[in-house]
Amino acid sequence: MRSEFDLIEYIKKSQTRGNRLGTRALVGIGDDCAVIPKDSESDLLLTADMLVEDVDFRLGWASPADIGHKALAVSLSDVAAMGGSAVCSMLSLGVPESLWKSDFVEMLLDSYSALAARESVELVGGDISRTPERLVIDSTVIGECPRGESVLRSGAQPGDAIYVTGSLGGARAGLALLERGGDGPGSAPLIARQLRPVPRTGVGRRLRELGLPSAMLDISDGLLGDLGHICSQSGVGAELDLTSVPIENGVAQAVGEGPVGSGRFEGLPQPLLTAVAGGEDFELLFTVPADRIASVPDQILGIPLTRIGSVTARGGIEAVGTGGGRVTLAPEGFDHFRGSDL
Ligand code: ADP
Ligand code: MG
Repeated sequence: MRSEFDLIEYIKKSQTRGNRLGTRALVGIGDDCAVIPKDSESDLLLTADMLVEDVDFRLGWASPADIGHKALAVSLSDVAAMGGSAVCSMLSLGVPESLWKSDFVEMLLDSYSALAARESVELVGGDISRTPERLVIDSTVIGECPRGESVLRSGAQPGDAIYVTGSLGGARAGLALLERGGDGPGSAPLIARQLRPVPRTGVGRRLRELGLPSAMLDISDGLLGDLGHICSQSGVGAELDLTSVPIENGVAQAVGEGPVGSGRFEGLPQPLLTAVAGGEDFELLFTVPADRIASVPDQILGIPLTRIGSVTARGGIEAVGTGGGRVTLAPEGFDHFRGSDL
């Protein structure tokens, strides 16, 4: 069966075959945002994200305010991943009749607008239609970045250090808690990471201003999958130090401590697997050339920056484990048609 990434490849190829507009974009399909030249000072950034009921969220778990927040947050995260600033957005809604009759959409919009106001993003358009059964939301964000300074996925070089912002695994652990219907002690921050992700907009911009990252993206598919995207687009590999991956507080209690019993991650402690393969943390993953490593601060805007590995010349992701052993991990990203490893 073809994967989501196979289809994106197909779309990309169909555009480069005889599309006369193909040379307008500085960056087209394949990065967190498309980059289009704007004027002599800046480039435009464009990103679209779709949320589908019962695929990307469930109405039983998420409030209209959660959904409105997340619809914008995931696109802002893509702009952050380029080191840019969001400027305006378009919001399209496909609404089933059952929700149309209530004030659900107004509550969703109020929350979307609250985040937009906090991030100085102006909602300038969109579209509304009816769906037979499920809510569908598409958020498009337009941002900008100083000309030629967008941080791409393709800039990593062998010898660069690999860093991640904040901590990982919280969003997947929050999802596990929601799936279990349990909200025991300590669960609220994890559930918030799943339902109300905080885009690292200020951190992404600051990293670019400091001139630190050679490549960057936001972790939506999971650390391994997204590191795989940097590796494949930069034509490099990576050595990941599993002992230094920052795991969100409370993940062990939520998913259990024990080692994974079977499959390609057999033996890995469950919290670590959640941190490296769980998606939707919306932290930033970036690489820094060796001569700039000394300038990387411990934190930016209160968000810690943690070194978790190095870029290598040989392909693939090799992980150095807690016992010092090495395993080669296939860098598979989350695929809506195949699911995840968790
Ligand atoms: P992200 O997780 O950063 O939002 P995705 O994995 O959704 O990125 O998409 C990867 C790349 O493929 C992006 O550059 C995106 O714009 C592009 N893409 C995804 N779906 C389509 C589509 N239907 N048509 C054209 N490009 C697409
Ligand atoms: Mg992204």
